Amino acid sequence: MMLIKEMKMPSCVSFDRYELSEQICPNCNGHGLSVFYTVTNTPVHSCLLMSSKDEALNYPTASLQLGFCWRCGFVTNTKFDPKVHEYSSRYEETQGFSECFNTFASSLAERIIKKYGIYNKTILEIGCGKGQFLATMCRLGDNKGIGIDPAYVPDRNPARDLQGVEFMQEFYSEKHADIDADVICCRHTLEHIEPTWKFLTMLRKTIGPRQKTLIFFEVPDVMCVLEEGRFWDIYYEHCTYFTAGSLAKLFRATGFDIDDLYLDYDGQYIIVTAFATGGTSSPYLEEEKDMPHMLKAIENFHDRCIYTINYWQNMIGKDAHPAEKIVLWGSGSKAVAFLNTLEVKNQIDHVVDINPYRQGKYIPGTGQRIVSPEFLKEYQPDKVIIMNPVYHGEIAEMIADLNVTTELLTV
Ligand SMILES: [Zn+2]
Repeated sequence: MMLIKEMKMPSCVSFDRYELSEQICPNCNGHGLSVFYTVTNTPVHSCLLMSSKDEALNYPTASLQLGFCWRCGFVTNTKFDPKVHEYSSRYEETQGFSECFNTFASSLAERIIKKYGIYNKTILEIGCGKGQFLATMCRLGDNKGIGIDPAYVPDRNPARDLQGVEFMQEFYSEKHADIDADVICCRHTLEHIEPTWKFLTMLRKTIGPRQKTLIFFEVPDVMCVLEEGRFWDIYYEHCTYFTAGSLAKLFRATGFDIDDLYLDYDGQYIIVTAFATGGTSSPYLEEEKDMPHMLKAIENFHDRCIYTINYWQNMIGKDAHPAEKIVLWGSGSKAVAFLNTLEVKNQIDHVVDINPYRQGKYIPGTGQRIVSPEFLKEYQPDKVIIMNPVYHGEIAEMIADLNVTTELLTV
């Protein structure tokens, strides 16, 4: 293990613990949440495109204060204010330029289609983003698709990929109850919704008597984030954080029975499939019984997080390596949280992203310019910090193709 010099904690971070006895848990409606981690002055958005360094540096910030519910295992930002959010066409979240991510999404679509026989059906996707996953589900199973997302951008996908798929540029609500879907999927959206119990209750109401409708959700898993002190996975856009157990509790409490529950994508994502059959008829799965594990993870988070913060402060601190040129690879939410939590403004000037829609833009809060991989040929960085280990192979290959010799580090 690398020897780490104890550094001063960034001024925005606090591990003070206290009870908010009056606050209601938005996942189970119980009273009281236990605060265990606070980050002040963090950008309220991480996927919105910033057109200038000035706009990025002056982007609105707010406090993130994680509270834990002892009854259901849910973690939420107790200071969250949904009014600050803007989910518009300026929102650029897609990971669809990565072959690694696309391979994962296609094999997931294939698995769901085969397991549940989704052929010639109607699929509704809530929070469909740019529509790539829905288009894949439709293409592979000859299905019809309806995608709902305020951040949907028309004309992004080739017309041949969108046969039988239509989109609505809005939020999902009760007014969509008349859409008679055989499958309702919702990937990487629930973690942006604070009143999770209300949302699932509304969803259950819109499904009505259609008990055969397959429900399929995907969200990040917070267990490994806490266990590994991954502060770069905690940011304002994600106001809710689930474990398999807390997600299953929410589904059961709102009238859904769990069919399958597992981790995927190198253990980073929880996948749940369910049916609106009441919430009491399916047997409890081993994966749901994770409360003791979660209690331990919350208990150890302070020590783990101090370790990772100190580790990366040492790694990128100019005192230790005054002449080094360091870039990050991956300009999404993880990079925004990493740079803002460590308060890195001067030590790193550039962040690489393969998504051409992000290139030429700036990181909210800390102002780094987002550049294309080709930029590295001229810049010749000493170190490249990869913001998600799952992309290590893909990035190492691209760097080798660019003839850039550098040290690759992974968060
Ligand atoms: Zn709760």
